[in-house]
This record gives sequence, structure tokens and C-alpha cells, in this order.
Amino acid sequence: MNKDWSDKNKRMQSLIGRETTFAEGIEVLIDLRNDLFSQISYIVNAFPGEAFYRMPFAGANGYHSKTIAYSMWHIFRIEDIVAHTLIGGDEQVLFSGGWQKKIGSPIVTTGNELKGEEIAEFSKKLNINALFEYCKAVMESTDVLLRGLAYADLKQSFSEEDKNRVKDSHCVSSDEDAIWLVDYWCDKDIRGLIKMPFSRHWIMHVEAMCRIKDRLCREARKGANPIARCGLSCNHCFLKDWCGGCRTAYNTCSDAMNHPEKVCTNTSCCIEKNIDGCYECDGLVTCRNGFYEYDDINAIKAMALFIRKYGKKELLKIMDYLRKEYKFEKIQDVLGNDLEEGLKILEKSMKREL
Ligand code: SF4
Ligand code: SF4
Repeated sequence: MNKDWSDKNKRMQSLIGRETTFAEGIEVLIDLRNDLFSQISYIVNAFPGEAFYRMPFAGANGYHSKTIAYSMWHIFRIEDIVAHTLIGGDEQVLFSGGWQKKIGSPIVTTGNELKGEEIAEFSKKLNINALFEYCKAVMESTDVLLRGLAYADLKQSFSEEDKNRVKDSHCVSSDEDAIWLVDYWCDKDIRGLIKMPFSRHWIMHVEAMCRIKDRLCREARKGANPIARCGLSCNHCFLKDWCGGCRTAYNTCSDAMNHPEKVCTNTSCCIEKNIDGCYECDGLVTCRNGFYEYDDINAIKAMALFIRKYGKKELLKIMDYLRKEYKFEKIQDVLGNDLEEGLKILEKSMKREL
């Protein structure tokens, strides 16, 4: 489990266990939920439509065997049912906001009953932007509920009547893979529900979503040219778990993310000039477009100049060597910010690497 999330989760559990620190614990919980939600936001903002229904781990044992869209639906349907039908006894966000129609979901249940290909087929039907807005609305509504709780509420348990209300909502399928949820929730008190549907359940599914997107990025990069148009090596990039590279539909590099069509300035300029990369452009040295706008990342331009002189294969060899020799996140940590100096370091590395 991600260490930051795990630590925050443990801290939250310990804080809510004492009356004097209960309110602080709730704020830690909301902070954790915000951290997790920011991962979902990033994925929704960055990844192409197909990423939400693909199942790169189909058949595996674990939450990562599902799809990203299913994970989003499932986390927030469970939270909506528990927060409103079970705890609040009021209308779920799904119904009060008319979200089922906006999302295009054929079901109102948690999705536990869906198996194998059904999960992908279900995911394809969903409008991801509407689903994301629904997730946000559920989160915000639950945050209000959490902030309204008092320490004494933690011990509130649930009756047969509560259980029947959940069953009668028909929001949990009667399939054996789903119906157990009703007893599972209703046998807990509010403290138990905070520990699972409102926190740990998110962590487990968001981690699974991250695993899915990492795998999709890796798959997208397979067979694609690993040299980015600007001169960076996608294979050695610190963002490679988040980005499939600028020659794939999974391009989530920082500059691309600033453009509505998710194509970075260097890439669109190269495409317009019909060249493979900036290293083929006559205006490279003086160019200030995209990644070349900032003097503190001149290292990228140094790499493009290196490719121009020695080729892409040679750059990949040097990058393998530098990764072995130095611990660094960004290439400018090794090449510095000076263009000529950066090129010299790359050239010197050629000799050492032999
Ligand atoms: S951020 Fe740029 S260099 Fe890194 S993987 Fe994406 S396209 Fe490649
Ligand atoms: S003008 Fe700049 S961004 Fe465009 S291809 Fe040339 S070097 Fe690249």
C-alpha cells in the first residue's frame, strides 16, 4: 500500500478513537480522501477514452482485474449507498442529481455482480466526465456528513430495519457476489464504516486504478519510438508510469496537459513541419517553444542536439549509462542548465560508457 496513504489512514484511525482528537481525525480523513481523489482527477484529465474500459489484468485475482471506469463507479456507488440510504436515511446523490441518466449507466447497483467481459462492456457505456462529476458530488456530500459527526456517533449500529431499507433500495444486486455487502455494512458501526467504505476501500481501488494505468502506459510505449519529439527519452523519464510518451494516445507530459487536445507544443510543431523531432529542425538552437521556453531545462535541448549529432540509438545508450551511474529524477539534475555544458556531459559519457 502507498506509504503516505497508509500512514495517513493509520493516523486518522488513531485520532478518531479519542474524543479529544476526533475532529482532527475527521480532517485527516478528508485530507486523505482529497489526496486519493486527486489521483482520480489526474487520470480522468489525462488518459484517453479507451483507458477507462480496458482490462490489462483481466482474470487476475485482485481489484486491478477490473477497469478504471468500474473502479470509479464502484467506489462511489458504495459510498453513496452507505452514506445516504444506510446512515443518513435520505436520498442518494445518484438519484437526487439524476446522475444515472447523465452517466448512461444501465445499473444502479455497486457493480459487484458483474463478471469478466461484462465489466468492460459496462465501462464502455459510461460517460466518464459525467461519472467523474458524480464521484465528486458523492465525495463532497460525504465530507459534509463526516464533518457533522460527533464522537458519540461512532458507536451507532444498525438494525434489521436499516438492513431492509438497503435491500429494498435495490442498489445491491441479489447476486451472491454482491448481496453479502448488506450484512457486511450493517454489522459494522459508524466507526467501522469510516474505516472501510470511506477510506480503506478508496485506497485499495485507487491503487488498483494506478496499477491499471501504469500497465496501459507501458503497453502504449511498447513498439513506439521511445524518443520524445523534444529530445527526451521516454524510457528513462521519471514520469513514465504516468505517461505513455508523446507518440501515443497516452501522452500526459506536463506541457501536453496544458493543451486541450493533449498534444505538447514541440509535438504539434514537429507534426506541422512533418519532421520526426526537434533534432531535425533548423531552428533548434534558438527555439523557445514548449519545453525550450525555460532556461532551467536546457538539458532537454542538449539531448536534442546530441541526437542531431549522434542519433537516437546513441542517446538511449547514454541514458542507460547515466541511469546506472547516477541517481536522478530529472535529466537536468545530471546535465545542468547550460546547453553547451549539457551536450559536453553527454559526449563525455559516450567515452566512459565504452
Ligand atoms: S513526459 Fe515526455 S519524455 Fe516523459 S514519457 Fe512523457 S512524452 Fe516521454
Ligand atoms: S521550431 Fe522549435 S518546437 Fe518547432 S520543431 Fe523546431 S525546434 Fe521543435
